[in-house]
Amino acid sequence: MYINEKTGYLIVLLILAASVLGICVNLLLLRPVFKSLTYIRDQTNKIANNEFEIIDSITFPSELKELSKDINDMSKKLNRTFKSLHESEQEKNSMIEQLSHDIKTPITSINTTIEAILDGIIPKNEVRHHLNIMNHQTERLNSLVEELTYITYSNSRKTDLFENVFVDQLIIDVLSEFEVQLRKEHREVKINVNPNGASIYTKKEQVYRILFNLVNNAIKYSNDGTEIIINAAIEENKLRFDVTDFGKGINSSNLENVFQRLYRVDESRNSTTGGHGLGLYIAKELVEQLGGNISVKSQESKGSTFTFTLPIDKGACDSCEK
Ligand code: ADP
Repeated sequence: MYINEKTGYLIVLLILAASVLGICVNLLLLRPVFKSLTYIRDQTNKIANNEFEIIDSITFPSELKELSKDINDMSKKLNRTFKSLHESEQEKNSMIEQLSHDIKTPITSINTTIEAILDGIIPKNEVRHHLNIMNHQTERLNSLVEELTYITYSNSRKTDLFENVFVDQLIIDVLSEFEVQLRKEHREVKINVNPNGASIYTKKEQVYRILFNLVNNAIKYSNDGTEIIINAAIEENKLRFDVTDFGKGINSSNLENVFQRLYRVDESRNSTTGGHGLGLYIAKELVEQLGGNISVKSQESKGSTFTFTLPIDKGACDSCEK
């Protein structure tokens, strides 16, 4: 087919015009996309600088709208994580401050007593008495350091493996640590496990530690010769432990605070118990890590029952492995 020169120019002109129009339409359509992309880039830069702002103005195109939603979710999560890290950092600092004070007090006292003995200020017949006091103070220091070490390593223990644990054996293992003391104090410990041979799929070391701390307190805060009862029973999909003593009990005004870190009911701060307000805090932390609950019922001068429940199997617990 023959196209004359004029028609040829016209076709080229039309093609050029169509291309320019195409580019203009494209630019017009892509403009909001570029705008959204620039906005998202700015926001991600802000997130990189720890500014967790929410992207709210992207409506087009739908893919970028989805992307901005994901970035918003991520930003919220990061914000929460940073906040809780900041809070736990502050908590840690205040804990270190308090513990430094707690550690310093017996060390200063031991130091002063040693100097007094060396300088002959303390009469010879009183030296033994002061050595006993120092012995007690070093025990306090020891248990304080032990609890501190445990706090540090209980966080890294979150990765411990789950295993099948026989409840009666666990209780016997814990009690064996107190065997000598129980015998010396003429105590009877009653154990009821229902059903016999009950087992739980859990992190053994953690449950051991929870029970250990509760039994330790039951012994510490009750008199020689009084009974201690440990009940364990499966209820629905939970295992419930009760540790009961017939000792000092806890005043109702102190009850809700006893699980707080470093909280001690005043009376028990005295040197006979050597407590540091960490045992119940650790127990609560561990119970919660395992997806359970811990509570206490107590009556002053009558005794206390500490109760904790744990999900029987891993499937029953969403937060177990966090
Ligand atoms: P502590 O090392 O001081 O014993 P805990 O965190 O284990 O720290 O306990 C906190 C406080 O709760 C204790 O100081 C004590 O006063 C009180 N308490 C804990 N268990 C018992 C109990 N079985 N009977 C009475 N008081 C208790």
